[in-house]
Amino acid sequence: MRDFIPATVDGEGAVCTDMLGREIGFDLLAVVPSHGGEDIINTSSGLGDPSGWVLCNRTTLEHREFDNISVVGDAANFPAGKTASAARKQAHVLADRIASHILGIVPREEYDGTTICPILTDFGKAFFAEFNYEKSISDPRDTFAKWYLHVHLLKRLYWHYILPGRFFG
Ligand SMILES: Cc1cc2nc3c(=O)[nH]c(=O)nc-3n(C[C@H](O)[C@H](O)[C@H](O)COP(=O)(O)OP(=O)(O)OC[C@H]3O[C@@H](n4cnc5c(N)ncnc54)[C@H](O)[C@@H]3O)c2cc1C
Repeated sequence: MRDFIPATVDGEGAVCTDMLGREIGFDLLAVVPSHGGEDIINTSSGLGDPSGWVLCNRTTLEHREFDNISVVGDAANFPAGKTASAARKQAHVLADRIASHILGIVPREEYDGTTICPILTDFGKAFFAEFNYEKSISDPRDTFAKWYLHVHLLKRLYWHYILPGRFFG
């Protein structure tokens, strides 16, 4: 059903009702709350858009009005996935741009919207949904190797290489 905005849930009856009184029965209900920015963005004049995301240039990460503000992560209004993987790519770009400013050279690094999400498709199979502002760049084949990488190697990679800044791939 299109534009179904849940209003009430009858758990025992297993029925979800929307704002217009339409009903849907369910076996398993997975609802996602509407997303929005933080109050501090909404109450800071000129900082954010009407949804509370910080207004910024999607490639330079700089605020559209204030040149001393740059943004990474979920707070930004990038038309990209709100994921830690995207924030990591953005942080790499931002670090390079700050270093360029300090060195007095023109910043060259830009964020192209790259986001990557591991998707488990079966026991022992996974693929990585990867895309940027322009297109999908995923290899859609699900394989054991990708599952192994996600389930057994990614945590180690995350804690020991990505978080300490040793790996920006
Ligand atoms: C259930 C779930 C699963 C997810 N799984 C994945 C995944 O598998 N892979 C992936 O890449 N991403 C995943 N994500 C998304 C990922 O968690 C976020 O994209 C990422 O954490 C964003 O990082 P951030 O630093 O921008 O924001 P956050 O991690 O939200 O950090 C913002 C911080 O700011 C603090 N803060 C807020 N307001 C104020 C204030 N006024 N003053 C001071 N501090 C303040 C908050 O307490 C918080 O610590 C998942 C998210 C959820 C909810």
